[in-house]
Amino acid sequence: MIEWLDIIWSDLASQFFNPKKRLFLGYLLSASVIATVWLCLIKRHSIGSAIRTFFDRKVWFSRSSRHDLASFLINRVIFFWLRPVLLTQLAIATLIFELLHQQTVIPLGLFEGAGYWTAALSFTLVFFLFDDFTRFVVHFALHRIPALWDFHKFHHSAETLTPLTVTRTHPVEGLVFTARSALVQGVTIAGFVFLFGNQVDLLTIFGVNIFVVTFHGLGSNLRHSHIAIRYPQAVERLLMSPAQHQLHHSQSERHYDRNFGVTLSVWDRMFGSFHHSVSETLSFGIGKETARFTGSIWSMYWLPVRSLARRLARVCLANARPITRAIPSFRARNY
Ligand SMILES: [Zn+2]
Ligand SMILES: [Zn+2]
Repeated sequence: MIEWLDIIWSDLASQFFNPKKRLFLGYLLSASVIATVWLCLIKRHSIGSAIRTFFDRKVWFSRSSRHDLASFLINRVIFFWLRPVLLTQLAIATLIFELLHQQTVIPLGLFEGAGYWTAALSFTLVFFLFDDFTRFVVHFALHRIPALWDFHKFHHSAETLTPLTVTRTHPVEGLVFTARSALVQGVTIAGFVFLFGNQVDLLTIFGVNIFVVTFHGLGSNLRHSHIAIRYPQAVERLLMSPAQHQLHHSQSERHYDRNFGVTLSVWDRMFGSFHHSVSETLSFGIGKETARFTGSIWSMYWLPVRSLARRLARVCLANARPITRAIPSFRARNY
């Protein structure tokens, strides 16, 4: 009992002390500084007013924020118990490596003579691009597939945004993203080791991909905040600004299904879901459903599961109907 509490406690602490995690204190600090500077320079606040605006009690202590905190803690416990059943990137990498060895089109060690820096830089870049693209694809699917949207509502039901909102996800969505992450890491590692040999290395700062550190260090946490930092339009066409992700959370119908990207906005442009940030004040949530969905923290966990059960029941009934139609006596008894 004490042992698992210890593990959960160190997992919780790692969320804030590990630079691989979005909520690392260094990233939170840099986001606070960027927000304050932006409010002072662009919005012409005094330093005191900027700090008061950033730490607005109505945002940080809202009911929605309390749900963020509750789900953050509950999810850490759930994932502690789920950990043994999760697929690891090592298992996937081994499988892909075996498959690559069996094919005869691409020769083993094709780029072995490329040199350390070429191998490391291309690995780091491809890894970052593949990771960002698959996040876009999964996020796109979470919105477009009704059964998945039921679970993604958990994230979108937030009415105020703080950095902790990033962790406000239903465990089923967490499982989908964990599988995605294992797949991306497994495929990239196996592919690069097959092509470049053992010289493959990730270019890192504090043990984290340099592109990821840059993204988080430059205020990724402001995506979930009330500080609507906008980039110049030319930049927003390449990189997703905090205000663009906030637009993704807007409950105005005009903004539905826009800006699925995480770091890069080029995927949204390629798939027709791109939207520039807007200067208007946005309201967040899932419209009329918000009140019922967020009635309690338990309803947020339970309602998506109930919706899925009902969908499955409908599918089963639809499949069962032709059989019952084929047996008239059975129909006569049951209808
Ligand atoms: Zn979304
Ligand atoms: Zn979000």
